[in-house]
Amino acid sequence: MGMKENDYLCPKCKGHLNVGGQLVFATETQRKHKGLIMLNPKVGEYDYKHHTKFSLEKGELVEFKCPMCQHNLTAEKNNDHAMILMVGSEDNADYELYFSKKAGNKSTYVVAKDDIKAFGEDAMDIDDLFY
Ligand SMILES: [Zn+2]
Repeated sequence: MGMKENDYLCPKCKGHLNVGGQLVFATETQRKHKGLIMLNPKVGEYDYKHHTKFSLEKGELVEFKCPMCQHNLTAEKNNDHAMILMVGSEDNADYELYFSKKAGNKSTYVVAKDDIKAFGEDAMDIDDLFY
């Protein structure tokens, strides 16, 4: 692995979502609680940080928004997932990164033009994700 990190962008405003090795999102829970969440951007890792007063219940659906333009990052192809853009540090290629909006759900998908990789113990069949 190189020293350089992948870049992560909002698909709407193209603003950078990664700061200090974390992804930053504005989020809102089903109970209408709002808070900032920092996610580990390493594909396949699922630890996240948030303020102690902002609590997530396991399995709760969380709306992820761009902290810069407030665009809702829900994936058009699958409403249970959020989608952001990823630029690979090694190959400089553009990818779409999908991750579950459910708190505690471990699934991430990296999509290039004709290549999909699934990560995480809760990852489902790619066919179930998009079709
Ligand atoms: Zn944005």
